[in-house]
Amino acid sequence: DGTCDMCLKGEEVYCRNRLSFGEEVDGFFAEYARVAGNSLVKVPDWVSDELAVLTPCVLAMLYRGFRRINLNMGETVLVTGASGGVGVHAVQLARAMGARVIAVTRSEEKAKVLGKFADDVIVGSGFSEEVKRRFNGGVDVVVEAVGTPTISESIRSLRAGGRLLLIGNVNPDETYQLRLGYTILKDIMILGNAAANRGDVASVFGIVKARPIEPVVAAKYPLREFAEALRMLESGSRIGKVLLVP
Ligand SMILES: [Zn+2]
Repeated sequence: DGTCDMCLKGEEVYCRNRLSFGEEVDGFFAEYARVAGNSLVKVPDWVSDELAVLTPCVLAMLYRGFRRINLNMGETVLVTGASGGVGVHAVQLARAMGARVIAVTRSEEKAKVLGKFADDVIVGSGFSEEVKRRFNGGVDVVVEAVGTPTISESIRSLRAGGRLLLIGNVNPDETYQLRLGYTILKDIMILGNAAANRGDVASVFGIVKARPIEPVVAAKYPLREFAEALRMLESGSRIGKVLLVP
């Protein structure tokens, strides 16, 4: 709302009176929406509509996650679900921030496309042995964008003192049995990250201006075909985000 203590600190994500489209407020799939002026960010002229739409919820959310886990230049980052709408942009942003990036996907076909964005691509669900063997015993950071199917392998892929950024696939009922002793003795940090502040959006525009990131769009649909667009998204048959164009 721009007036609470969190908003005044630039932590709009933690706004005490937060309202979100698609959650508390209806009207997400619409041509026009009524939004408070202090919720807006000015989009620079050089930013395409595709890049603008992928910035707050994907790139800036990821940027905030990387900022919070203190991603440093030259570190190794592994991204699971790398062909998904979140994953393929996580790969690109981590690279733009100076990391060496390994993309993990289940599909040989998608691996070819990911080779364009990542430094290395690993295909398959059992990736931790290969990661440890090839990357100095384990990576610095894992971006876990899938959830329970990959999280065990992700944690095994970390070096001692590594950090796991948990994002993307939000299912409130999904559970996972965490081995506490292993987590403690391996000195692991696990960080959940959901959204972005306005400042993160501005930071992403700054990064992308210096090191371009390609908005990866699986398909575009007119607004009236949103049901078809959701089916496309569920099928997971292509790389990137599905866009609705009003
Ligand atoms: Zn607030």
